[in-house]
Amino acid sequence: MKITSIKTFPVGIPLKFNYRISLTDIVFKKHLVVKMETDEGVFGYGEVGVLPTEIGGTLESLASAVDYYFLPVLKGINPFDIEDIHERMNKSIYGFHFAKAAIDIACYDIMGKVLNLPVHKLIGGAYREKVPVTWCLGIESIEQNVSEAVQAVGDGYRAIKVKVGQDADYDVERIKAIREAIGSKPKIRIDANQGYNPKEAIKTLKRMEKLDIQCVEQPVNKLDIKGLAEVQQGTSIPVMTDEAVYSYKDLIRVIELNAASIINIKLARVGGIMRAKKIAHIAEAAGLSCVLGCMLEIGIGIAAAAHVAASTPNVDLESDLIGHLYHKEDVIEDSGVKMLNIEEGDLYLPQEPGLGVSVKEGILEKYRI
Ligand code: MG
Repeated sequence: MKITSIKTFPVGIPLKFNYRISLTDIVFKKHLVVKMETDEGVFGYGEVGVLPTEIGGTLESLASAVDYYFLPVLKGINPFDIEDIHERMNKSIYGFHFAKAAIDIACYDIMGKVLNLPVHKLIGGAYREKVPVTWCLGIESIEQNVSEAVQAVGDGYRAIKVKVGQDADYDVERIKAIREAIGSKPKIRIDANQGYNPKEAIKTLKRMEKLDIQCVEQPVNKLDIKGLAEVQQGTSIPVMTDEAVYSYKDLIRVIELNAASIINIKLARVGGIMRAKKIAHIAEAAGLSCVLGCMLEIGIGIAAAAHVAASTPNVDLESDLIGHLYHKEDVIEDSGVKMLNIEEGDLYLPQEPGLGVSVKEGILEKYRI
């Protein structure tokens, strides 16, 4: 079996609402979708959500990386040869994990379709059948955050994630109001998206300690691993890395400095399914928990992350796999089976071969940029 073509679909899909995090406001989400075709007629899709403010690259640059750098070195290669495929991409361009992730995911989709197995069966099996997920709240008015949190808990979500990091006093006030409104049982996780400095983070987190916070995600700048370690050791609230772990080496440094207890793995940021599994294994060896994060992907990327989360034992806290619910339109065909449905705070794992999702290319064309 040989790769014959890789088509790129750079798309922009409007969200149902404005989503504010400390880095930016998101109203319209860009994605790179790739369709990989083979000489045996089997094809696979890959997708990544694109957030230039975090990745230092653009949708246009990712699409051209695929067209002009990756396709020439992957044409004629067997999509099962995933280590070789990554090496070929790494030799072509340094970094560009987002584009590499889209290709990697498409390869796994093809592998599963050829073997007639869902992707999780290829990478560890269904360690869990459902993936517990958080409901994520942006930085909004206290009133709006509280009503959304109450609604989410009413819908069965057992963990709420709240974006913070723009104004520490306001963050404490909001989290306090949310905790009072939802009671003591649901977990609250906060995500500063690098918005604090280490001193401010410790001071702010100490004020939140009595609110029973599950963990704080990426409190300080992604390059400041020492600062992350200060926060981890300076409060009783465990630190989760997010933006800080891009490569295996980043994770090793986090482990060496005891800078976190939990690693948020995003397929796009780490470079796809194969690399995500390796990151999880390194974390497992160091006794760390993981979650699968979200770049507000549509159903293709969410499905890929769900297969990783379900097949990896130390992904033992709630993942953020709800991006597909945020878009005005998804590209996934509703086949009537429980596919990426979320019920009572659990995401149902696709069971069909490959990623287990069928893609409406008409929608991709409609939103093509
Ligand atoms: Mg985050």
